Amino acid sequence: MANYDYEIIVIGAGPGGYETAIKAAQVGKKTAIVEAKYFGGVCLNEGCIPTKTLIHTANLYSEIREAADFAITGIDMPAIKVDMERLQQRKNRVVNTLVSGVRGLLKQNKVTIINGTASFKDQHTLVVEGKEYSAEYLIIATGSEAFMPPFISLEGHTNVITSREALELTALPESMAIIGGGVIGIEFAHIYSRLGVKVTVLELMEHILPMVDEEISEMVKKRMEKNGVKILNGAKVKKIRDNEVIYEWNGKETAIAAQAVLMAVGRVPNTKGLKAEEIGLAFEKSAIITNSRLQTNMDNIYAIGDVNGKAMLAHTASHEGFAAVANICGHNHRINYDRIPSCIYLNPEVACIGMTEAQAREKGYDISVGKFPMAANGKSLVEGDTDGMIKVVLNKALGEILGVHMYGHHVTDMIGEISVAMNLEATAQEIIDAIHPHPTISEAIPESFMAAFYGRAINC
Ligand code: NAD
Repeated sequence: MANYDYEIIVIGAGPGGYETAIKAAQVGKKTAIVEAKYFGGVCLNEGCIPTKTLIHTANLYSEIREAADFAITGIDMPAIKVDMERLQQRKNRVVNTLVSGVRGLLKQNKVTIINGTASFKDQHTLVVEGKEYSAEYLIIATGSEAFMPPFISLEGHTNVITSREALELTALPESMAIIGGGVIGIEFAHIYSRLGVKVTVLELMEHILPMVDEEISEMVKKRMEKNGVKILNGAKVKKIRDNEVIYEWNGKETAIAAQAVLMAVGRVPNTKGLKAEEIGLAFEKSAIITNSRLQTNMDNIYAIGDVNGKAMLAHTASHEGFAAVANICGHNHRINYDRIPSCIYLNPEVACIGMTEAQAREKGYDISVGKFPMAANGKSLVEGDTDGMIKVVLNKALGEILGVHMYGHHVTDMIGEISVAMNLEATAQEIIDAIHPHPTISEAIPESFMAAFYGRAINC
């Protein structure tokens, strides 16, 4: 290290940044981390963790109302309600426990914590709260923020919220219009519809969750509609005027009134205050451009997580960070973006990895597809919910796994198995040969692989 204060400074302490800083310190680098607002970033404070806390209560509330189906009687149903104030307190306790854990881990690993907003002075120097800090390498991990689209105009006294405010509600609105049927829109539609809010989702594309396998997206839509959510596909929102959302649907302009309007049309990389352009870092739209080694156009500066715009997922960010640290140490690590699991927390859940059937066909693969319905899985029947399936897409000749798409209970905890298998380049036969315990929902995995590889499963 020449005359620098640190070997590595990480900017941003979200799940990507703080884990990267810990990894850098663990491999012996003198490391600091700069954070402007909160440790744990959006994920812990206003994203993944608080959302899942609300989802847990929404699911529990639904289950209690269905208790009679499971032979539980004596509950005074009309008296049951969710106390939103207490739900907020519980959510804050969960968040605070995790956030203080992050600070503790950084200290335990001897990462220096610098509080404040970092801006670049030059390629090796940051200014934070008027003080300069230099480093041989810098890793930008400043995340993303909600996208407020300029093509949707706001007029009058609007009541628009983003996912951040939607996590803070201490009273339930009577109705909510959600613009965007992507991951955020659909997770919040699930939460608030289950809590009793009249929810309408307006989605531009022909399917909700456009990134998910089409059959599974249709199953999710059916289930949500059964739960009372109104879903409009092909609805292009153009304007929000006072408490009305104005959209074009089937060639006609229509309006819907809602007490709250949630904007969920995507997120954009956050580089506010960083002065990255001023030192010459290259951007594509608002994302910092990186190569496959996570390096920017300046070879001592790396960018990981949402800010590079590649895949906006917390687990991708940390893995990109580990790869950046390895590359700084002289290795040559790259992320395989075709093997990133993604999960959507509904009831039942969605979990996917790899190509959808449509993507595999579009890429010209000769594929075989296997499906196994949860209705044929004993544990799903025991749990009283048989909606869903596992769908496997294989390269026909080799049995190579191209993609696996799950809709069912506990599937977000099961997709890791497929991630390991794909990482080890396991074949369909190897998954079939691995003994899965009975009775579990995971038994549906080898069954769906049998359906894809042999053309027949055992139990359906
Ligand atoms: P998204 O890109 O997933 O979905 C946005 C949706 O808005 C799209 O389906 C799009 O077609 C629709 N849309 C755009 N303009 C519209 C208009 N004028 N009218 C109607 N619909 C319109 O974005 P998101 O749901 O905001 O999520 C942002 C990011 O955060 C994503 O990368 C997502 O993967 C990530 N995220 C992940 C999780 C998770 O993994 N569980 C949870 C939350 C967020």
